Amino acid sequence: MAKTIICPVCNNSGSTSPSTIFEADDLSLKDAVKTLTDEKEIREYIDKWTDSAPFSSRGTFQGKPVWKCNKCGTGLFVRLFGKPQAIPSKILQDLRNEWELRTGKPF
Ligand SMILES: [Zn+2]
Repeated sequence: MAKTIICPVCNNSGSTSPSTIFEADDLSLKDAVKTLTDEKEIREYIDKWTDSAPFSSRGTFQGKPVWKCNKCGTGLFVRLFGKPQAIPSKILQDLRNEWELRTGKPF
């Protein structure tokens, strides 16, 4: 489920992008994907779309969803209720390393 969050560091606000294309609220996006048949093409499209969103999903840490603010680069724990929490830099460093190791993509 997409949720509107505000970055506690830079006040960037926006909807968290869905973790899969099928959760997307954006119908134009779903229609665009329907025209793509090649799996690689779909992946690239989703990646591009996710990276242009205000926040990007960066997996979970101890069961908590991790998001990255695309404006200031802060890592955030997004809770179901209440405001997102900025992730302490020490934990964020570990998360970043793990993400880059696992996905081969920059955090
Ligand atoms: Zn921010």
